[in-house]
Parts: sequence; C-alpha cells; structure tokens
Amino acid sequence: MATVLSIRHGGGESDPTEVINTRYAWVLLVSLAGLFTFCALFKFWFGSQKGQQSKFMARIKKHLIYAPLIRSGQTEFRLSSASVIFTIPTRLQACIIFTAVVLNIVLLVTHIAWDSAEKSLFSLVRNRAGTLATANLIPLVLLAGRHNPISSIFGISFSAVNIFHRWLGRIVVLEAVVHAAMWLASKSSTSGWSYVAEEFRSSQFIFTGLIAVISFISLGIHSPSIFRNKFYETFLHSHILLVCLALGGLWHHLEELPARRYLFAAIGIWAIQRLARFLLVIWRNCALAKTTRGIVKEIPGEAFQISVTMARPWHVQPGQYIFIYIPSIGLWTSHPFTIAWYDQNESSPTKESSDINVSEKSKENTIHLADINVPQKSKETTIHLIVKRRTGFTAALHRKIQKTEVHIANVSPLLEGPYGGKQYCLDTYGTVILFAGGVGITHQLLYARHILNGLEEGVLFGRRRIQLVWAIRNFEHIEWVRSWLECLFRLDRAKNAFHVQIFITRDYNGANDTLSLGGNLRLFSGRPDVDSILRCNVDQQVGPMAVTSCGPGTMSDQVRKACIDYQFDCNIDYFEGNYCW
Ligand SMILES: Cc1cc2nc3c(=O)[nH]c(=O)nc-3n(C[C@H](O)[C@H](O)[C@H](O)COP(=O)(O)OP(=O)(O)OC[C@H]3O[C@@H](n4cnc5c(N)ncnc54)[C@H](O)[C@@H]3O)c2cc1C
Repeated sequence: MATVLSIRHGGGESDPTEVINTRYAWVLLVSLAGLFTFCALFKFWFGSQKGQQSKFMARIKKHLIYAPLIRSGQTEFRLSSASVIFTIPTRLQACIIFTAVVLNIVLLVTHIAWDSAEKSLFSLVRNRAGTLATANLIPLVLLAGRHNPISSIFGISFSAVNIFHRWLGRIVVLEAVVHAAMWLASKSSTSGWSYVAEEFRSSQFIFTGLIAVISFISLGIHSPSIFRNKFYETFLHSHILLVCLALGGLWHHLEELPARRYLFAAIGIWAIQRLARFLLVIWRNCALAKTTRGIVKEIPGEAFQISVTMARPWHVQPGQYIFIYIPSIGLWTSHPFTIAWYDQNESSPTKESSDINVSEKSKENTIHLADINVPQKSKETTIHLIVKRRTGFTAALHRKIQKTEVHIANVSPLLEGPYGGKQYCLDTYGTVILFAGGVGITHQLLYARHILNGLEEGVLFGRRRIQLVWAIRNFEHIEWVRSWLECLFRLDRAKNAFHVQIFITRDYNGANDTLSLGGNLRLFSGRPDVDSILRCNVDQQVGPMAVTSCGPGTMSDQVRKACIDYQFDCNIDYFEGNYCW
C-alpha cells in the first residue's frame, strides 16, 4: 500500500520531497507560533505603557493598533445597520493576517524546481500545497470555537480570534484547491479527462481527497458574515458537518502519508477542546445534591432577565460571558451572553423552595434575589443576564414567558464558561469612559462595579473618574439595570467618581420622565456626541485614560475614531467588547 501511495502521491516519509515538505510544514507551524507569541509580548508591553505618552507611541496607536484598515474608519462593511457583509480587520490584525498569507506563499514556492518537466512540477507544487494545508489545520483548530486556548492565554477577544480563524481557513481552502488543481492538471494532460473520471470512481485515495476538497471549498463558501448572521444555527450545524466530512475524507486520503500527523494533531486538539467543554459544563452545573437553576423574567423593551444560581460558586470577572443551554427551549444549542451582574450569597435555596417563592411572588409580577433565597450555610453565585429578544432561541424563550400568567418562568439551564474577561483590565486607569449601546450595557456595568468596589475595599487607590455613557432607544430600557445602577450609586466612592449619561434616541422629550437613582445621572434626548464627550473628559482627565465601547458597530466606530483623533492630546487606550463576530 505504501508503495502504491508513494507512486501516486509522491512519497512516504523517506522520500526527499516529503522530507523537504515536512521541514516546510514545521517552519510554518513554528513561524505561526512565533507570530502569536510576538503579538502576546507586544500586547503585554503595550498594556504596561501607562505613563506620559511619547509621540512615537501615539503614532503607533493612531496608525496601527486602533486604525481600521480602510480610511473610512469602519470595522464592518454593512449593507444596513442590521446586515454586516464582512468584518474589516484593524491594521494590526491585517498585518498579522498579511504575514501569515505571505509566509504560506513563500513556503509554497520555495525550494521547488521550477524548471522541472511539467508533470513533476505539478506533483511538487501539489504535494507542497497539500502538506501546508494540512499543517495549517493545527492553528486553524486551535483558533476555532469558544474554548480556544489562544484566546485565554493571550487575552484576545472572541471576535479577533474569529477573524484569524477565518483567514487561516481561507488559506487552507486555497491551498487545498491548488493541491487538487495540480493533480487535475497533471492527470488530464497526461491521461485525459476520462482517466480522471475513472480515478474518482475507482480509487478510494482520490475519492476521499475529492470529498475533503469539496468540503473545504463549501466551508469557505458558506462562512461569510451575512450568512452567519442571518442563519446562525444553520451555519453552525452545517459548519460542523462539513468539518467532519473534510477531516474524515482527509484522514483516509492521507493514510500512511507523513502529513497525517498534522491532521492527527488537529483532530486531537479538537477532541480535547470538545471534551474540556463537556467536562466544564458538568462541573459548573452539577455539585453534590445541587444543580444550576434559573428564572427568566420579562423586562420592558422586548427583553428579559435570566438569573441563574450556580451549582458551584465562581469568582466573576468583568467582561466575562457564558454560553447558556436551555434544552427545553433550544435543545442542544447554546448562546453567548455577558454577565451583567452577579450576587455572592451566603445562603442556598433548594430547587423546590425557589420554585415556590417564584410562584408566590409572581402574583406581584416582581422578583428580587432575596425572594428566592432560603437561609442556609453555603456560598453560591447568582449571575444575571439581560437578553434582548432576537428571532431564534431568544424569541422562543420570550414566547415561553409570554405564555405564563405573570411573565416569569423557572428554567433548568446549563451554563458553559465563563469565557473572556482577560481581554483588558481597567484597574490602573485614572479615567475610564464606558460607552454602551442598548444591551451592550451588560458588558460595561461590571467594570464600573469592579473599580468602585476596589476603591471601597482599599484594593484600588487614587482619584478616579468613571463615566458611563449609555445610548438606548426608549426610556423604559433603563429598567434593565435600574436597580444595579442604584447599587453602584450607593457606594461612597461613587459620589465623586461615577457619572452616568443616558441618551434616549427615540420618542423622548424628557418632560414627563423623572429618574432619581441617587447619583450623578443625567438623561439626554438623541444620540451621544462621542467627540464632545471625549473632549470634556480629556479636559478633566485624571491619570491615564481608557475608553471602552460595546454596542452597534457604528457606535464603536465613532468611539474608535474619536480615540484615534485624541491620541496626540493625551494617553488614551481604546478597547472594544462588541457582541459581533
Ligand atoms: C460574546 C457575546 C456576548 C453577548 N452578550 C449578550 C448580552 O449580554 N445580551 C444580549 O442580548 N445579547 C448578547 N449577545 C448576542 C446574543 O448571543 C445573540 O443575540 C443571541 O445568541 C441571539 O440568539 P437567537 O437564536 O435569538 O438569534 P437569531 O435571531 O437567530 O440571530 C441574531 C444574531 O445573533 C447571532 N447569534 C445567534 N446565535 C448565536 C450564537 N449561538 N453565538 C453567537 N451569535 C449568535 C446571529 O449570528 C445573529 O447575528 C452576545 C454575543 C456574544 C458573541
């Protein structure tokens, strides 16, 4: 069999061409690892630059780190506010992608005897492209999915990791196409198309290769942003199916060929990630005689709050998100939501007691955390999510609570995570401006809470200025977080340090609405003028300044642009936590 393969495919382990290809595959893997390590070190170094900003640093931030690739300042190419056609990387991300592309091209064309006869030239390029495509599967799988270690180790956001995953995927598809095209060109020119057709029918080696290539091409075609956003579940399930087909086909295609070792590693990483996720879900949601339980409550503005009391306590960090499974609604599917708030309780209700209390309280259509607690001695974490209704899982959940008399329902959720939270830390900034659009508020609240709590407890020091700027469509959306804002305003250090501006973009004249949450809160009609808000904060800046944004792409683009414009006036770091990918 090995001899047959070496004739067909160019060789086994000892074949000199394979030795060279193996060497190039390793060069590729080591270079990509080096590239990511360099990025991690750069991120670490960049994070430590908090003092007076040099002109050089300002230029790097303005033209490389924060700058979108194109001058228009957008990081998304949109047809309308709802349909994103594709994500545009920042210049820094584009540099990393460009390096990976160039690296692959160089490794594909180097050490190929370009003056060889046509047939052997086709074979050389074919084998090199095939080997590189297979080797690229390792970083591709490492960067795939929610549980990827690169994201956790390097603190890179879900959306940024996804950008790299997609570009590596495109490289793999192109290399697979080159591999197949070289074989087709060689066989059709020497033996004719009828021989090619016969090979597809009779040779398992060729047939499985064909399945793999078609699957890779399909993966490339079905992945654009517009399809992912419109039909997420269809995308996800077909993606997994095609990945299985591609890897399965390739596994048979590479039987007894050296490149199979890369595939083995890629499948191993994928299997370990899946297993780790499964174990994490079990561990998080099942403890001795306890499971995770949740309550879904309708809140104004086509939204609902999910409060989940975890089977085990956990130390929640700002910026963390979880994936929630509610099998009775979404079967095996899971959806990401950011932890908007959490409570660490000393007591632990049993399932029955919490159910009873909910139904009793339901009559008043209000529910508070205290209502679902029965005093017992153990620590437990309740996390709160604010979920805006969309058209799939969230709509089904919304329908379920609509059917209940008081629009509150008990659910049995499973939470996977937490993920994120390591992307950035705002502890060392004197001035922090948190921009949120709509449900993006869930990303920002815990950052404010973390800093204010740190100041109260003496863990953080010095003068601080935290400004929360929140744009919402309707006045009623304030209800989503009203009680939590009140909690923050009650903190001593919030009096001077915490300022909130809420911009109501629709149907608001400000005349009839009164809002007294006991703190520095101001309501405005219309959209926030990002530039003047930033100017005002630059004038009153305390220490280094961090600006973060979580909301619609258009809003984040404005905030990003304003931060870029002020780079030479002061030291501003910009971070994004959007819910797109
Ligand atoms: C890191 C992160 C944090 C988020 N935090 C919040 C939050 O705090 N509150 C909130 O209301 N929304 C949040 N979202 C968005 C939320 O996950 C989606 O709105 C929700 O999954 C939509 O479910 P659906 O089936 O009703 O969506 P659909 O109506 O089918 O689709 C609406 C949009 O949600 C996207 N989407 C659907 N399912 C998923 C999924 N499983 N994973 C990723 N995206 C998906 C689709 O691509 C589409 O763009 C967050 C998203 C991410 C990536």
